[in-house]
Amino acid sequence: MSGDRLTVHLRMTGALTVEPQAAPAGRHTRAAFSLSGGEELRYEDVRRLGKMWFAKNGEEDRSGIAALGVEPFDAALTPLYLENRGKNGKKSVKSMLLDQSVVAGIGNIYADEILFAANIRPDKPCNALTEGEFARLAKAIPERLDFFIGKNEISFEDYLLGKGKEYRNTPYLQVYGKAGTPCPACGETLRRVVLGGRSSVFCPRCQK
Ligand SMILES: [Zn+2]
Repeated sequence: MSGDRLTVHLRMTGALTVEPQAAPAGRHTRAAFSLSGGEELRYEDVRRLGKMWFAKNGEEDRSGIAALGVEPFDAALTPLYLENRGKNGKKSVKSMLLDQSVVAGIGNIYADEILFAANIRPDKPCNALTEGEFARLAKAIPERLDFFIGKNEISFEDYLLGKGKEYRNTPYLQVYGKAGTPCPACGETLRRVVLGGRSSVFCPRCQK
């Protein structure tokens, strides 16, 4: 109610838990906040990659959250939105997917999976994408993320034990990390290119 805001970016291994104050802190507890009910909100992070910002009521929020683009499951993520953001850019479509100011939350792995599902080469410049390709992209983004989130379902207990980091949806990846192996759709050998310092894997036959 105070209007103060806490923003947390979990990055790779961050996790938030609510525990009794008397419970011993975990090995990787990095921060703890006393809650009015007598419990603690604790932040655990094995690799310490996460970040936290606290802004008092009326203070500027410096977390960068305001600069994030649309959420992948938001109705605002339409073919036209992607086209407007991408049509004048010479950057690759892969870079656009990784640009958090366009769509928030897509990382390297799922960018490759989305582009495979949409049949678009990762190195294709945004300004060369057709209307149909923007439409396929807008459809593939929520569809693929929903699929992989479903495969990565985890029990409450396992989350507390930090087992969410095992990425149990890895067996369902179609192209990421599979350069040199046959395309699951057509059998062509998957290829790897490096774009903006990030590795991308794609099928030269399925993705145009
Ligand atoms: Zn293929």
